[in-house]
Amino acid sequence: MPDAATAADIWEAYAARYAVHTGRRRHEHMLAPGDAHDAPMPISYYVWALRNTATGRVIVVDTGFTADKARARGQTYHRTPAEALRLIGIEPGTVEEVILTHLHYDHVGGFAWFPRARFHLQDREMAVATGRHMRHPIMRKSYEVEDILAIVRRNYAERVRFHDGDGRIAPGVSVHHVGGHAAGLQVVRVKTARGALVLAADATHFYENMRARIPFPIIFSLADMLEAFDRLRALADGPDLIVPGHDPLVLSVYPPAAPGLEDIAVRLDATPVRPSPLAEDDTAGPWPMGPERF
Ligand SMILES: [Zn+2]
Repeated sequence: MPDAATAADIWEAYAARYAVHTGRRRHEHMLAPGDAHDAPMPISYYVWALRNTATGRVIVVDTGFTADKARARGQTYHRTPAEALRLIGIEPGTVEEVILTHLHYDHVGGFAWFPRARFHLQDREMAVATGRHMRHPIMRKSYEVEDILAIVRRNYAERVRFHDGDGRIAPGVSVHHVGGHAAGLQVVRVKTARGALVLAADATHFYENMRARIPFPIIFSLADMLEAFDRLRALADGPDLIVPGHDPLVLSVYPPAAPGLEDIAVRLDATPVRPSPLAEDDTAGPWPMGPERF
């Protein structure tokens, strides 16, 4: 029996923060009519990485955005996503596999830092981002046309691999279409020493969206967004194995990836240093919820 720490299908997982927006308020993140409190609610921006110590393989999940987008959209930019990855020992220029959870600017805009990568994307995300709905300003407000054109160009250069629903990226790593926030939103499930971990990305921006079943207000399909909360539970082996896409609390639930990286990068496959806020979610039965195993 292989040592769990070096088995070819067991991965390390990291989240690294590159930007924040401290001026956001609750109504921008919580579609909760009747919620009278519009308190400040800062949002964080992350890139994620998976590393397999047995094979040396690295998979990056999402690419972040560039400094010019931060200036245009009001974020405080701490470092480039490329610099964030270097802090955890990953050189973006050598990365060969990038999973794009969806094509919103804050997930795809850093594509140019990955010149050798093949990009994994859902069919529906490309179809919608290049299709009829983009004529509506409210539907395209999280998309940047130059980002979409860049991915179209990479497809013509044979550097995009499309998935339709569930897809296998590597032993122990799979993608799963959930939709909702974006038509082609996919989440990433990875086998770690602690069990099946799910990078939810924007299937739940904050712990609270999922825990309290409060939708995030940028929506392609509300029904799919709500179904996605249950799918996350079905895919993960426990409440501290679901990682929201934008919650600042992620950096305090998990231990720093290395000394000195406190409040910057965390090791998601390590034992949490405090309970996940999802442990308080008693709305959908005990863990694990679903039959979806590796
Ligand atoms: Zn996002």
